[in-house]
Amino acid sequence: MSSAPPSSTNPALSQALRELDVILANAGVGIVFVKARKLVRCNQRYAEIYGFDSAEAAVGHSSVELYATAQEARGLGARAYPVLSSGETFRGEQMMRRQNGDMFWAHLTGRLINADDPADGSIWIVDDISERKLADAALADLHAEQQLIFDHAMVGIVFLRGRRVTRCNRAFEQLFGYGPGELDGQLSRAWYLSDEDWKAAGDLCYEPLSRGESFHAEMLLGRKDGTPVWCEVRSKAIDRSDLSRGSIWITQDITARKRVEQELVNAKSQLEALVEQRTQQLSQTVAALEQKVAEQQAAEAHIQRLALFDGLTGLPNRHLLADRASQAIDIARRNDEPVAVLFLDLDHFKNVNDSLGHRVGDSLLMQLASRLRGTVREQDTVARTGGDEFVLVLPQTDVAGAAHLAAKLMALASAPFQVDQQELTVTPSMGIAMFPTDGDDFDTLCKCADAAMYRAKRDGRNAYRFFTSEMQAQSARALLLENALRRALERRQLSLHYQPQFALDAGGAARIVGAEALLRWQHPELGWVSPVEFIPIAEASGLILPIGEWVLREALSQLRRWDEAGLPQLTMAVNLSAVQFRHDDLPELVGRVLAGTGVPAWRLELELTEGAAMDNPAMAIAVMNELDARGVRLSIDDFGTGYSSLSYLKKFRVGKLKIDQSFVRDLTEDAEDRAIVDAVIRMAGALGLQTLAEGVETEGQLAFLRRQGCQAVQGYLFSRPLPADAFAEFALARTMVSV
Ligand code: C2E
Ligand code: MG
Ligand code: MG
Repeated sequence: MSSAPPSSTNPALSQALRELDVILANAGVGIVFVKARKLVRCNQRYAEIYGFDSAEAAVGHSSVELYATAQEARGLGARAYPVLSSGETFRGEQMMRRQNGDMFWAHLTGRLINADDPADGSIWIVDDISERKLADAALADLHAEQQLIFDHAMVGIVFLRGRRVTRCNRAFEQLFGYGPGELDGQLSRAWYLSDEDWKAAGDLCYEPLSRGESFHAEMLLGRKDGTPVWCEVRSKAIDRSDLSRGSIWITQDITARKRVEQELVNAKSQLEALVEQRTQQLSQTVAALEQKVAEQQAAEAHIQRLALFDGLTGLPNRHLLADRASQAIDIARRNDEPVAVLFLDLDHFKNVNDSLGHRVGDSLLMQLASRLRGTVREQDTVARTGGDEFVLVLPQTDVAGAAHLAAKLMALASAPFQVDQQELTVTPSMGIAMFPTDGDDFDTLCKCADAAMYRAKRDGRNAYRFFTSEMQAQSARALLLENALRRALERRQLSLHYQPQFALDAGGAARIVGAEALLRWQHPELGWVSPVEFIPIAEASGLILPIGEWVLREALSQLRRWDEAGLPQLTMAVNLSAVQFRHDDLPELVGRVLAGTGVPAWRLELELTEGAAMDNPAMAIAVMNELDARGVRLSIDDFGTGYSSLSYLKKFRVGKLKIDQSFVRDLTEDAEDRAIVDAVIRMAGALGLQTLAEGVETEGQLAFLRRQGCQAVQGYLFSRPLPADAFAEFALARTMVSV
């Protein structure tokens, strides 16, 4: 109280009043005396609360103006009066007004000074509680906000105490399929799938919660109906030092996320599988590519080998041989050393192929190749140059060395070969030429070795021969004859002789039925040259084609002239070389000549050697069919000297077999020849073929042939080949005789 206390004579009272003043001045609350609604005294704090400049400035003011309105002032009075008047203390909160017009909440405590007389006034203690009010409001707001969040949160929130639900939001109930309030007071076991899960979760969360950390986990929980639901759970103790105060759990349904995660895992593993598969495919592709490249390289290597090596035996071929031989000869020339060139050819190898098949023949050649390879030295070359032809080039080898090796090769080539279950034997014929004696280059040496081999064959095969000067002379003659033969036609040195052919009639007579045209060559210096010598030269040089055509035309023209001269209707046999037979043009040529000479086709008989037909039977059949279609007849010449397959013979369009004179010659002495001739005649009969025996010189031969059923003969017994005029004479005379 700011007004000075009344001076008193009583010192104790004065002291008490002074003390009271100090208390009032320093009180933390406002204190005021009010009498008749007027402020009588107040302390400093009161003045501060209401915004008076000082305690003294407040004195005299109406208490009513301290309220928001007069009505409110009256309202408080009405509430306080009954309490005060009964001598009690009034307590209440009231909105009040400061001097500057601001409103504030005040806590009022009032009491009458004299309960018996309210007119003595009242004393009020005023506390400014505006700040507390504001704090309360803020707290209430916060609480309301929290409640809002709690009620409308998208996540489930549950408060647990002693593992029981004290409170949970709607989201939590819905997450697990419960109705509102249904979970209140329930054990948390309700949303676990099993007791074990529940216990495990309790064990797991205890530790972090007691440390004040949050517990975080993804759990598979269960709805009310038992369906599982993946949840993400976060939990925290409300008071980490006192877990009994419970915990809050925030729970979120992550089933969809889990599903997406699972799908992601699936997609990832699918992707990985795909990548794996692609990788595999790629590596397969790479492997295939590598294989392709390897195959291509192998193919190229193969082609290279083919170019230089023989496909069957793997030996060097003609090209590589020439290369190696030239090198060997160059070196030998520089070092003044000898080189041997050896030709090796199997005798009658064609028979093996024809009778046993090419597979057997190939196997034999492969075995022979390895035997040859195994016999020679490292620096020697063994090459295969044709079917059964091998060439060996032997550096630093003299005549003695070559002879030694040749003898060794004879033995090794003649040793039996094992093919499948069969044992085969073949014999070789060999020719040897020496560098530098026989020739200075590989070409010449080859010709010499070939000639020597030819001689070995002529000498009965299964032998080896060195090239000699005599052979040299012979090959010189062959060259001479070839050159001379080139002009023989135009120089009219060629002519035809005709040998009569006879049919053996049942009555014992021999009736002239035809003639065989035989080529003759008379050279001004060389004299008569035998067809046995010049025909092979004509064949090798190709001259046989124009010469053969001339023979055909000349023989058929002669036949026409004989017709005109009154000879009986004879057939004309004309020899065909294998070279002519192989020529595409043959059937047309024959047709042309027949037409040109006007001779009917049936009167022409073409003689073909066994070899020419058997060389390429398929081609032979085709040509024979064409000739047969033109009406031309065919016979097989020198039958028995070559090698005929019966199965082909049946398919050949031939009408006649000419039994070779070599079998006829010794018929009377040689039982074996008789057996052969007998067999040929009977076989021909079985095949529906005629037989004509060549080279019949004696009555004994004729008698035998007649007995065996041979249908026709020709030979010196009847006549030698004759010039055309002589033949005509002979034929007319014979016809007269037999008539
Ligand atoms: P070839 O066709 O077998 O002719 C039969 C050969 O035997 C002829 O020899 C003939 O004179 C001979 N000869 C006939 N009867 C007897 C006999 O009783 N005893 C003996 N020892 N020999 C007899 P040539 O005329 O020397 O002809 C030899 C071969 O030349 C012919 O054998 C034939 O293969 C071939 N030739 C002849 N002329 C031609 C022709 O125009 N073209 C063709 N491509 N080859 C022909
Ligand atoms: Mg003939
Ligand atoms: Mg003949």
